[in-house]
This record gives sequence, C-alpha cells and structure tokens, in this order.
Amino acid sequence: MAANELLKRLVTIFSDDDLRHPQLRGIVLAQWMLESGRATSELSVKHYNFGGLKWRKEMAGFATRIQYEAHDGADFYCKFATIENFITGYWVFLNRSPYSGWEANVSTPEEFIKFIGPIYAGDESYADKVISLLPEATSLLEQAVRARADGPHGDQENDDGRGDDLGVIVIDPGHGGIQNLPGSDANHAISVSGVKEKKLALDFSLILRDQIYARAQRSERLKVVMTRETDKNLPGKERARFAFDHKAKLFLCLHFNGSQSGSARGTETYYRAKENGNINLQDDMTFAQAVQTALFKQLKALDSGARDRGIKPDNQGNPSLPGFGVLNDHNLGNDERRDPCRAAYIEAEFITNPSVEKLLISGPDAVNNRTLAMAAVADAVLQQMRAIRS
Ligand SMILES: [Zn+2]
Repeated sequence: MAANELLKRLVTIFSDDDLRHPQLRGIVLAQWMLESGRATSELSVKHYNFGGLKWRKEMAGFATRIQYEAHDGADFYCKFATIENFITGYWVFLNRSPYSGWEANVSTPEEFIKFIGPIYAGDESYADKVISLLPEATSLLEQAVRARADGPHGDQENDDGRGDDLGVIVIDPGHGGIQNLPGSDANHAISVSGVKEKKLALDFSLILRDQIYARAQRSERLKVVMTRETDKNLPGKERARFAFDHKAKLFLCLHFNGSQSGSARGTETYYRAKENGNINLQDDMTFAQAVQTALFKQLKALDSGARDRGIKPDNQGNPSLPGFGVLNDHNLGNDERRDPCRAAYIEAEFITNPSVEKLLISGPDAVNNRTLAMAAVADAVLQQMRAIRS
C-alpha cells in the first residue's frame, strides 16, 4: 500500500531527525503508524498528533490542548503546530513520570516497545501489534534516506513521458537548522505560542508541493524541487542556485513575518528590485502579484482581518539597500544566455499576531486553513507555469 502524502511528510522529516537513540527510529515510527492508522486518523490529519497523545500539563509549550471525540469517549488531546513539533513533543510525553526508566530499556526496538507499550496502551498485546509494523516502518525510512542521498529532486514528479511539460518550480522554505549562514539565519520570527518560523515555513512549503502536484491536470508534467525538506539551513546563494541547477521557471521563497507589535498583520510578497540588478523585473512582478493576490484572497475568505500589504521590491524602495541575497538574479540564472527564472518571496503573515496564531498555527482549523491557503498559491503557480510555456 502506498503511503499517503501526510505519512510521507512525517517519514521524510523523522528520517533526518537527530535522535538520542537512533536504534528506536523504526519502532517509534511503527507505533505512530499504528496509532494514526498510517496517518489517516482525524487526530493526525487535523492536529499532527500521530501518537494519539492525550493532553498532559507537561505538554504546555510543545502542544496546545484540543477536545477530541475518540473511540473511548471525548477527552483532551495534544494538537501540534507542525510535524516537527509533534516529533519533539513525543519525547517530551515519554519523559513524564509514568514512563520513568524508559531510557534503561532501549538496547533493542522490542525491549523499548515492550517497556512503554503497556503503559501507553494499557494493553499487553500492544507491543506485538507495533512490532508487526516494524518492517514496513523501516522500509519507509530507508526509502526516505535513499531519496535524500540521490540529491534534491522532485521524487513525486507527475511524469508519464507524455503530456504538456510545465517545467520546474523550486520552493524554498525559509531558514532552518541551528546555524546562521550568509543570507539565511537559522530562524527569524517566533509565533505567539512559541512556534518557530522555520518550522511553519517547512510545513507550509511541503503542503504547497503536495497541492501543486494534486492540482495539476493529469495531462500536465511538472517537477517541484525543494531547497530543503528537513530541518537544515542553507546559505541564501545556495538556495537560489537550485533554480539555476534545475533550470527552474519559478523560484518561490516562503517566510513568515514577526513584529514587536502584536497587532501587525498582513500578507506581502517581495521581488528583486531593479536597482539590485533585476533583468527580469516585469515578469518577477507579475509572478509576485499572482501569488500575493491568490494567498491574500484565500486568507481574507477565512478571516476578515486579513490584510493585503501588496508586492514590494526587496530594497523596500531604498536604492541603497542591498535586498535579499536569496533573490540574487545571477544565482537564479537570470542572464542573457538562458530563459530567465521568475522569483518571488512571500511573507505569508505576521505570526506574532494572536489572530494569525489561531487562524494558521494552533487554532482547531489551522491545518485545514493552511492547506486551503497553499492550494490557492498552488493554483497561481500552475497558471504562471502554463503562461510561461505558451
Ligand atoms: Zn524569514
């Protein structure tokens, strides 16, 4: 059975996560597959809770509390803002007193699950059910590691060798990892509930990728390339190089804004300023306006407080400002020798605003809302790719 997109996203991120006990990676994924019905449960789809984790006060700061009607009655469960937050939160959950001593039982996957299973599920047969999924979990993790070793590419290419070729788009989730690099800090904004911009940028970007593939017509071939699929940072220049290396038609950076003032909000999209050597200005502005309009309209439909801050040059109108390194035309391959790549840089919203926190991060419909928002951007992207081809 083919893994669904959500399970693939979980596997991709978890396969590259630093674990204190790497020998437990497979069995833990197997447990999440059992608990979430292979990422089909409502708790996993709506709240990124792949472990069926009930709310416990120690989870404050790692999750938010939601009421949920499970098979054993209504109760409070954990809602996670991103898949990365769930992975962190799972270990926080285990580090509570009911599981004390678990780290003395980690020499094999079986030992671990036989120790925690009866506490987790109150069921002696639970460990065996998880162990039966271990081969499948291990194989999914191996596939993810292999795909990464093969280098960055769109492994879910819509490509049957026929149909209209729309070309390549590179999606660049902002920030990542723990090191500040030239043109790309590890993180910038932090949401009201403490979720880092880099985690939201990755989550939204992976949803955007899936939406582009899902919303392309069957007769259309295209490829979505991600500059990163896990929690790592890349220098700004290297991100832009992806567009050149993959002969991309479009390069789209995704970020979130932050402000000292909790009331600031709105959506804005940047393009490379003419003064910063943009030889592709009109096309970049067209692309920036298309994604800006699509994203803003969808956010406005979800929340009347949404605000259109418009498209802006990356020097913000000040010719002496250098602009964003990641939008450097030369690194994108915009020179006379080849077709120019259109580039845009979305600041989707201010995550320091409590309404945005509820709408897109930790409110009950946050995952659904962000999926709708990324579907709108996906449609705009596909229209651009079609327009460039014709
Ligand atoms: Zn940013």
